Amino acid sequence: MAQSSPVVASARAPGKVNLGLWVGPVSSDGFHPLLTAFQAVDVWEEVHVIDADDLQLEVVSDLDISGVPLGPDNLAWRAAILLADHLGLDPRGRLVIDKSVPVAGGMAGGSADAAATLKALGQHWRADLSSAQWSELATQLGSDVPFCLLGTAAIGRGRGEQLDEVSVSSPLHLVMVQADFALSTAEVYRHYDQIHPGATLPTELPEGFVAAWQSGDATALAPLLHNDLERAACSLRPEISETLAAVEQAGALRAIVSGSGPTVMGLARDADHAHDIATTLGDSGHAVRVTQSLPTRSG
Ligand code: ATP
Repeated sequence: MAQSSPVVASARAPGKVNLGLWVGPVSSDGFHPLLTAFQAVDVWEEVHVIDADDLQLEVVSDLDISGVPLGPDNLAWRAAILLADHLGLDPRGRLVIDKSVPVAGGMAGGSADAAATLKALGQHWRADLSSAQWSELATQLGSDVPFCLLGTAAIGRGRGEQLDEVSVSSPLHLVMVQADFALSTAEVYRHYDQIHPGATLPTELPEGFVAAWQSGDATALAPLLHNDLERAACSLRPEISETLAAVEQAGALRAIVSGSGPTVMGLARDADHAHDIATTLGDSGHAVRVTQSLPTRSG
């Protein structure tokens, strides 16, 4: 960070993948009910707060951040306003977001920024909120924000804000392949509605899913990975289908689209396998990042 004023608070929140994502029909409020297996990954958004007379925002990153708004549309900014309103304070402070999660990649980078901002400003403003109140504020900011605040592993229902934490003891090793284009989440959902009219939503994850997830058994989990949005994302951008095929050809146990895409996630047997897959994909010109899922505290 290139600033001289002292940092008064810092917090971080991870990006996520959806190991499973099932999407029901759009409801009258415009939202889609979901059943999802949220898993945080070892890719972090950090937010630092510096004293300032008003609210300011800066984003630093090695990634392409041209699509990130630098004012009131930024989710971190909205989080600051929401928390300040809730606490009856003037929103003041310079937020410096150190971004590692690809923008508009289906890994909830903006939601992680909002979650990290709530945490950092919560410390700075000494907010004494219950977990239900934090969750309520997070839900107002976006469906993925409550999970990013939790930052572990959870089954999500409703819009994704109703969370049941899952205790995971061993990490999964993942290869994330970034696209050189972004996909709008709203557009993917609109297209999903067109191609899946009358979709039905299961109430539980498939048999064996949770056991394989909890024990980090990649071989058992691979055939169970699922993303209802994949067809819509691939139909909007057929290049994604080519990437899915390339990731499986490179040796991944399975490749699926991450969230609403366009990032593709490959599941590997272990860390060495993930590096081998990444090397093969990197050699053929793909932008790849190896990561692993975060085991939970209690796992
Ligand atoms: P979604 O939560 O919609 O699935 P995503 O995970 O695919 O999103 P994000 O990186 O969160 O991708 O960005 C989605 C869009 O949100 C961006 O294109 C941008 O316009 C907007 N946005 C708002 N705040 C942020 C932020 N802090 N970081 C990144 N994008 C942001």
